Amino acid sequence: MSKILIIEDEVAIADLEKDYLELSNFEVTLESNGQDGMVTALKNDFDLIILDLMLPEVDGFEICKAIREEKNTPIIIISAKKDDIDKIRGLSLGADDYMTKPFSPSELVARVKAHLSRYERLTNVGQVKNSVIEIRDLKIDKTARRVWKAGIEKNFTSKEFDLLCFLVENPNHVFTKEELFKEIWKMDSVGDIATVTVHIKKLREKIENNTSNPQYIETIWGVGYRFKL
Ligand code: CA
Repeated sequence: MSKILIIEDEVAIADLEKDYLELSNFEVTLESNGQDGMVTALKNDFDLIILDLMLPEVDGFEICKAIREEKNTPIIIISAKKDDIDKIRGLSLGADDYMTKPFSPSELVARVKAHLSRYERLTNVGQVKNSVIEIRDLKIDKTARRVWKAGIEKNFTSKEFDLLCFLVENPNHVFTKEELFKEIWKMDSVGDIATVTVHIKKLREKIENNTSNPQYIETIWGVGYRFKL
């Protein structure tokens, strides 16, 4: 049975979420203030965390950041804040999803299930298949450094392959161009962040069905890029 932690200070909403999740056979723990929620999240192993943003004592952004420093547990933010900037901030802190209040409880349950199975698939694939990662129609063999898109092998330069692997292994995390440049090119190369833009473009040409509507590598305007699971 999957264990879900809900951190929410509005009792009516917390109860609604709990009821719907328990009906779908999840084991639910409730915390109603930010401080307790953060401690519970860090001390225990949950399969998924549902997080409100405006909370007494410690806000949801802080909690999200603290969890991400230690754990990869999927996080769904549910907030009354509708501004894009809050959504971007939440996602760039490592949240996996963002829903605004009022929301449909059945949609919440559907998203919880989707995130759990994605997370499970990712961790299982990594362990069982020994360095072969498969996401939708993309297959990456890390040992052989080969990549297939919809069954067709694509050729990648060394840096393109490193960049793709880094993004795939850190899914849903938003990286700035500066961070990607530092990570992939380190100090061994003369270049600048425009190099990252060029490489992202090349990756998209190889792995996306439609480069103007990318399904794998998403641009978060004003922030950077993230690999979508
Ligand atoms: Ca609240």
